[in-house]
Amino acid sequence: MKIAIAGAGAMGSRFGVMLKRAGNDVILIDSWAEHVQTINQKGLKIETDHGSKQVEIPAFLPQDVNFQPELVVLFTKSMGLPKMLQDIQPILTANTKIVCLLNGLGHIATIEKYLNKANIFMGVTVWTATLLGPGHVKLIGDGGIEIQNIEPTQKKAAEEICGVFDVAGLKAKYSANVMFSIWRKACVNGTLNTLCTLLECNIAQFGSLPQSDQLVKQIVAEFAAVAAHEDVKLNVDEVAAYIGKLYDPSQAGEHYPSMYQDLIMHHRLTEIDYLNGYVAQRAEQFGLKTPVSATLTELIHAKESLLVKN
Ligand code: NAD
Repeated sequence: MKIAIAGAGAMGSRFGVMLKRAGNDVILIDSWAEHVQTINQKGLKIETDHGSKQVEIPAFLPQDVNFQPELVVLFTKSMGLPKMLQDIQPILTANTKIVCLLNGLGHIATIEKYLNKANIFMGVTVWTATLLGPGHVKLIGDGGIEIQNIEPTQKKAAEEICGVFDVAGLKAKYSANVMFSIWRKACVNGTLNTLCTLLECNIAQFGSLPQSDQLVKQIVAEFAAVAAHEDVKLNVDEVAAYIGKLYDPSQAGEHYPSMYQDLIMHHRLTEIDYLNGYVAQRAEQFGLKTPVSATLTELIHAKESLLVKN
């Protein structure tokens, strides 16, 4: 299959490498010129459980792509999605299918500006990856993906996409309720990512705080109220308990969430507007009150103003 990975940072590179190895015709698209240039000149360097390798895979800046993909896999950061879609619009046709695997909320509305609902497939993944530098990624550990069609008539197409990912070892499953999984992952990120970043602590440290359960429950309750208006039912106690297991200090380890790594370690912007920020903004439209999410969003933006250099 002809596949374009739009947004080829850590995760896009992982998916690109695995899909290419399975025999697909794959290109990477990314707006970071040094990354694209390094991949084209030296190959993509990958660190795996079995050592280091150099993988040849063509990479393009979004405005330079000359390729007609049957499938586009979106893997930008949330804030990069509108610009990426705008830039690759010339290669999207009425037959192009698009799979969105970004974290965060509100992406369907953005993609719908460029493609019909029938062409859009939403997913969520527990694979991980780390970008070590231009043309250099770390791909360790195991994962999986859930994918579902947005338009009810497109179930077979979603199953076919799952098949392509599955053959590549990406362990994809058709989901009967992917929006639930996307919201539940947003709850994880909207609590642990946001709070560990503001508190500048790792997940085990967060779990050892006397305030952790109450803070998580307040945030999850706000997410659930907004989700209900989007026809997604989140049980606050169940989701809070699910997150509680992740920050149980006896299990959690000294892991710093990705938002912490982006903002505190690398001084990069965060996906907050697509997590707590999305909830606060939608709540206003629905006439709901989500003061915790609104304040957390402002605090992260304030921290971005202090730490991110332009
Ligand atoms: P990433 O940070 O690795 O890359 C995103 C983009 O940032 C790149 O495409 C690149 O254009 C740019 N970039 C990165 N470093 C740069 C630098 N030093 N200079 C200039 N530009 C730079 O993003 P990611 O981790 O692959 O995340 C993509 C999406 O997948 C996000 O929505 C994320 O939340 C989600 N996600 C990530 C993981 C993970 O383990 N990384 C797991 C699940 C979901």
